Amino acid sequence: MNSLRLYGKKVSQTKYSNIELKLEPTKAPELKGKDVLLRVAYCGLCGSDFHLTHSEQNNGIMDYPGLVKLPVTIGHEFSATIEKYGENVPESFQKQHPIGSAVTAEEMLWCGQCENCIKGNVNHCLHLEEIGFTHDGAHSEFLTIPYQYLHSIEPLLEKYGKEKGLQIGALIEPFSVAYRAIHFASGGLTLKESDSILVIGAGPIGIAVAEIAKLINKYPITALEPIKERKEFAEKRGLCAYYKPDELGSKLFDWIIDAAGSASTIQKVIENHTKASATICLLARCEHSLSISTEYMITKNLKIYGAQGHSGDETYKKVIELFSTNVIDVDSLIEEVIDLKQAYTRLIKQQKGFSKTLVNPRLESHD
Ligand SMILES: [Zn+2]
Ligand SMILES: [Zn+2]
Repeated sequence: MNSLRLYGKKVSQTKYSNIELKLEPTKAPELKGKDVLLRVAYCGLCGSDFHLTHSEQNNGIMDYPGLVKLPVTIGHEFSATIEKYGENVPESFQKQHPIGSAVTAEEMLWCGQCENCIKGNVNHCLHLEEIGFTHDGAHSEFLTIPYQYLHSIEPLLEKYGKEKGLQIGALIEPFSVAYRAIHFASGGLTLKESDSILVIGAGPIGIAVAEIAKLINKYPITALEPIKERKEFAEKRGLCAYYKPDELGSKLFDWIIDAAGSASTIQKVIENHTKASATICLLARCEHSLSISTEYMITKNLKIYGAQGHSGDETYKKVIELFSTNVIDVDSLIEEVIDLKQAYTRLIKQQKGFSKTLVNPRLESHD
């Protein structure tokens, strides 16, 4: 089988230089204990994949600032069918998820036993492993994942048909990130129907955030997006989109959700476009720091929180339920389906789409 493998030279605990992406033949993964062997159906190209494979700035250090262990097969937002169970996969799981049935997986492999996991902070597990970052991922024909991180997406296949259901199943992970950021990561701050919302970045995560927010909020959501095609796509989905903060004029917002990871943009927006008691959610990985005066935070009663991950609180279950009903038009978010060779080229050339590009590792290669 072929896999998109990422190589690099370790320079510190999580930093790598000399990044090299290869599309190469790999052996089928070994099936151990509680693992399930999965045949990948579709895997989304994520902004993180572009970060992982880019290192031109910053002295050749990989752009992605999070947890990584190289070499690794990348790809973490995917759908698959069950091929084979490891010998310790419980029978109850096997009954509920028969061979050939469709699943998706949490990207975060949390231990369930450390202090953070016991407190329910599973996205901050002290022994966290991540699919496509530290554990071989799904830009490949097969991968293995311990059974407890898998979720059935059979309801999507029933609703949309097999192939379309599998494609939509690959969107569960990014939507779960957005869902959790709004509903659970805030520690009790709740988005209200009448709040004015600004989403920074109208890539796939920004759009997912807007779609989840729209289920609560009835007012037009504003977005900032510097890329023309993405801005136009956001407008088609009913957002009021602008290229940069300067164009926002005197607009002020109750909620600001960052899905872009540009510290200078976040800073400008916080300094010029927050209402009193505004809530700011930081969702995109960003290697640069913010500099905000404590006086400004106090006099504005600002609440700033970070949101990482999508696990816990039955987030996956809730998003699968949302997708199984008609409340979100998810089908139109899929921009195109490409093969592994095309995915390799897109990543090397850093060619991002305007919405979600899916990789089908079963497709014949196109140059
Ligand atoms: Zn992702
Ligand atoms: Zn843990």
